[in-house]
Amino acid sequence: MEEDKSTRFSPSKLGTYQGCPRQYRYRYIDKIKREVQTVEAFLGQCVHKAFEALYEGLLHGRALSEEEAIGVFEREWEAGFSEVVLIREKEYSPQDWRNLGRECLRAYYREQSPFTRERTVGVEKRVSFPLKAGEEEYLIEGFIDRLALAPDGAFEIHDYKTGRSLPTQEELDRDWQLALYELAVRHAWPDTQRVRLLWHYVRYGKTLVSTRTPEELEDLKRKVAALIQVIKRDHEFAPRKSPLCDWCEYRKICPLWSHAERVSRMPEEELRRDEGVRLVRELAAIDAEKRGIRQRLRELEADQEALEGLILRFAEAQGISAVSVCLGEAATTEREEYRFPTRTHAPQALEALERELKESPLWKEVSHLDAHRLLEGYRRREWPPEILQFVETLLARHAKRILEKTVRFHRKRALDEE
Ligand code: SF4
Repeated sequence: MEEDKSTRFSPSKLGTYQGCPRQYRYRYIDKIKREVQTVEAFLGQCVHKAFEALYEGLLHGRALSEEEAIGVFEREWEAGFSEVVLIREKEYSPQDWRNLGRECLRAYYREQSPFTRERTVGVEKRVSFPLKAGEEEYLIEGFIDRLALAPDGAFEIHDYKTGRSLPTQEELDRDWQLALYELAVRHAWPDTQRVRLLWHYVRYGKTLVSTRTPEELEDLKRKVAALIQVIKRDHEFAPRKSPLCDWCEYRKICPLWSHAERVSRMPEEELRRDEGVRLVRELAAIDAEKRGIRQRLRELEADQEALEGLILRFAEAQGISAVSVCLGEAATTEREEYRFPTRTHAPQALEALERELKESPLWKEVSHLDAHRLLEGYRRREWPPEILQFVETLLARHAKRILEKTVRFHRKRALDEE
């Protein structure tokens, strides 16, 4: 598989990799042109164009009226809307989305007019800064929706969001896209004192603000450098299934979804002829049968347990330890057993037990590496980049890499009902 030769990274490029490495590969390495665009992305694009025209006008000393700003949005919509714009939620029409865009603009215009609170310095402003990752130097670059200077002398990085999710303050305090832009602004103007990060959630007329400390910015640089190294070493770019897939423009070619996409448009006759559908239907039938058998086994085990209880009581009452018939013998035994606390049922008790054992020479003998947990954390990318890098080193040094091919059947209601 082709490796990534990028020397430049933008926050959205890095974010794409974190969301799904395969989407990253399609977009930035294979450079596959999008066949579809989600209506959410299209709406955002049209609204951004209107903001751009509005603030470009102000930069040139001309304030657009509310209707003129909305007019820019309308023209963008007219020129760009086509069948490639994908509306997944069928209950909403293109007109609903268009109205939403118009309302977002109107609300923002009325809230911000006459636009004199701060002075706009640049619209869609390109910024960048160099970042060392390993032995290489990369360029982190991007476009700030709007860069402004506030009356108190602070730079303000404005970002416009048309999406439906409104993040919490805590989530924004951890956001790194605008924080990377802050690093670029500080690089461009080294004597910068204060920088504020502002997100305008235009659907809700809500502006959220956050700031970063110098320590947080340094930490961010380290994390991004580690992430770039992970990307550079990746040769697999494995697809990662997540809610993001619902909005992904590469579903038709993604190995996780391409078959589902193809068969979703097939009539029943064609479905019956499709080899993949036939095989999975067979697998579904086997799975259903196995589930039936497992259920029956659970019932039999419950019956067996109840019977054993009766036999124990019978043997105790008779003062015997074996009950015999010609078919076989049920022998009763008594043995003391120990039940240890478990991670699921008594995590604190387990921790206390482990603490004591760790201090004893026994620990080496009774503890063992949880390789499954190690690989799971690594695959899910649930640790910070520097830890992931450490795990990678461990894997390279101590683990044998094998290509294991498996088939796992996931039951879906739709398949059962076919
Ligand atoms: S459909 Fe999902 S798994 Fe496939 S590339 Fe897109 S985001 Fe990744």
